[in-house]
Amino acid sequence: MLVPFTKKCMDCSEEDIFCFAFYCDRCGLEWRSAPVPFSRGGFSEVKDDEVLALLWADEHRAAFERANREAMFHFNHCCVCGQWVCDPCFHLSGDGPTDICIGCRDTAAE
Ligand SMILES: [Zn+2]
Ligand SMILES: [Zn+2]
Repeated sequence: MLVPFTKKCMDCSEEDIFCFAFYCDRCGLEWRSAPVPFSRGGFSEVKDDEVLALLWADEHRAAFERANREAMFHFNHCCVCGQWVCDPCFHLSGDGPTDICIGCRDTAAE
């Protein structure tokens, strides 16, 4: 399984749906990926539990990779501390550098 890019990530997947939550490294704001239904490999019915578990694990991994990539667009990467933070935690406008988190901006301003 891929490592999530945020420090905290939660797997909200269930038996027939894949969903992941990512959290802002600074304030913990949650962002959830769009739920993806488990397709059972495209088979209408899978009788073998072992096969079903394998299919689930496979789709689960793929769904996580997708969610991880998608989540990156909802967070901002601070080039100073390396944290992934939400928009309110990111210094998007105003004076000074705009590619750092507000924590690093405050430190720089001191
Ligand atoms: Zn935040
Ligand atoms: Zn920072």
